[in-house]
Amino acid sequence: MNESRFAHITKVHPCFNEKMHDKVGRIHVPIAPKCNIQCNFCTREINKCEQRPGVASRVMTVDQAVEHVRKVTTEMPIAVVGVAGPGDALFNEETFEFFKRMDEEFPDLIKCMSTNGLLLPEKADEIAALHINTVTVTVNAIDPEIGTQIYSNVYFDKKLYKGEEGFNVLVKNQLEGIKKLAENGVVVKVNSVLIPGVNDKHILDIARKVKEQGASLMNVIPLIPMHKFKDTPKPDCAALSEVRDAVEEIIPVFRACTQCRADAYGVPGKEDKHLDMTPASHF
Ligand code: SF4
Ligand code: SF4
Ligand code: SF4
Repeated sequence: MNESRFAHITKVHPCFNEKMHDKVGRIHVPIAPKCNIQCNFCTREINKCEQRPGVASRVMTVDQAVEHVRKVTTEMPIAVVGVAGPGDALFNEETFEFFKRMDEEFPDLIKCMSTNGLLLPEKADEIAALHINTVTVTVNAIDPEIGTQIYSNVYFDKKLYKGEEGFNVLVKNQLEGIKKLAENGVVVKVNSVLIPGVNDKHILDIARKVKEQGASLMNVIPLIPMHKFKDTPKPDCAALSEVRDAVEEIIPVFRACTQCRADAYGVPGKEDKHLDMTPASHF
């Protein structure tokens, strides 16, 4: 089974094992600012205060990121090094350059990235060759009627696709990519953003499909109301739990996520920091 084949990774990865989430650290390096799709709930920001994905206080070069990893790993117990934006990890060549350097200098750190999955079919082999251990793919719909409400643009192969055409390109690549990663021995987690009234009844269909493609774990996260969904209410705890419980009948669910920044580092929820943080004593 996937789970036992990957146990040595998932046992120590804070985003794949709830028991480790507040025990070991991860470091995100914000080296991937560009994105190739537009999700209707996303605004990427450069700032020092918001606690959410898509936010970093600055974008680093690969050299700066390697230096940052060198420094932080001497200061705290870091098990995982990840690229989580602030755009899409795969759409920025720096991600690959960075992981090549990590593979040479820190072969024992788990290498992880999160992506929208659009470029996975063409990048899956390279991901495996760089010994990237874990990939999180965000899949918010598999049905075009729902997907077209969530995504507005998809830029692929030098062409901009909109509406259903765009969604179809995206979802085909996500599903094909998950399969290719799993076949290559990469552990795949799928994140789905729960958007009330849009995909809340659809998350189980996603769970069934991604499991079939080889995903090992799912993380259902609540919408942070922004951009075109700024007036949609955030799902409450009960709604979130209900969906997670139902998903768990299909595929294991990760529940400890608090949606951290693209430049977060340290032990999530405990010794949690991000770049250029204002020390607490300044408030
Ligand atoms: Fe934002 Fe990520 Fe969607 Fe790109 S893929 S628009 S960075 S949420
Ligand atoms: Fe965790 Fe995602 Fe960061 Fe990987 S990229 S360490 S799964 S938050
Ligand atoms: Fe990963 Fe979520 Fe934990 Fe951040 S809070 S490290 S995104 S699981």
